[in-house]
Amino acid sequence: MHVHQYWRSDPHSDPAHHLRLLSFAPRDAGASARKLLERAKARLDRLDFYPEPVDLSGVRIVVAPWLFRVPGFRRFRGYATRHLILLKHRSLNEDLVVHELCHVWQLQFNPLRVWLSYARPSTFARDRTGYRANRYEVEAHRAVELTRGPQSQRAMATQNTEAEQLLRERLAEVQCRLAELAKAPEPGAGIAFGKRIGDGTSEAISRRYDIGVGNSLRVTEEKLQRALAKLDEGSYGRCDNCGGAIGAGRLAVAPESALCTDCAR
Ligand SMILES: [Zn+2]
Ligand SMILES: [Zn+2]
Repeated sequence: MHVHQYWRSDPHSDPAHHLRLLSFAPRDAGASARKLLERAKARLDRLDFYPEPVDLSGVRIVVAPWLFRVPGFRRFRGYATRHLILLKHRSLNEDLVVHELCHVWQLQFNPLRVWLSYARPSTFARDRTGYRANRYEVEAHRAVELTRGPQSQRAMATQNTEAEQLLRERLAEVQCRLAELAKAPEPGAGIAFGKRIGDGTSEAISRRYDIGVGNSLRVTEEKLQRALAKLDEGSYGRCDNCGGAIGAGRLAVAPESALCTDCAR
């Protein structure tokens, strides 16, 4: 369950909507609501707040002005359940739908926790501070902010510069370690330093270890080079396999990712 804060005053009260649950029954209105849901999902798909993308199946937008006349709900303009996004106004506001769809997403992963976090007096209290500090509320606001068109492009440019710097640093580090490994003495070379023949066993083990480390460093080197190439060709943050978005969280942890979480599995 979730309620959205009503932050804009509503000067007009439309008697035609009074106590009537208007679903988007007319065909084109229904189609535009569906399209809006899909656009909102596409925006949320750029984020990886949860392990799986939001599931739109069964999710509907319903305009229900009557709900927002119920005491306690007057200050909200949207309300989300697992399958319904209830809106106060008929006008379709994409940011509001992204916000409410983020709550649907939260409910798909943490239904109990989300419900409990809102089942507090502070949700309906006159003082909005407690409500605004709710972590699911904060997350829904972030979802809207992070996926706004021009802002997110600017954010992406900054992110790419930071990613490139990080990738180059790591590549230099990996190449430096590979160079050190290449300089390591050949097996048996240790004898020249006065070791006994029997020490060959531990040398063989350390040699095998070096080969293992070398191989994994070369794999990392390749990944880093691929990620840098993706930055060049403008496909950084897009999955090499399915073309979908690689979540910001995944890139933060592993900036060399060329595959999304699903394809990497
Ligand atoms: Zn909300
Ligand atoms: Zn993929």
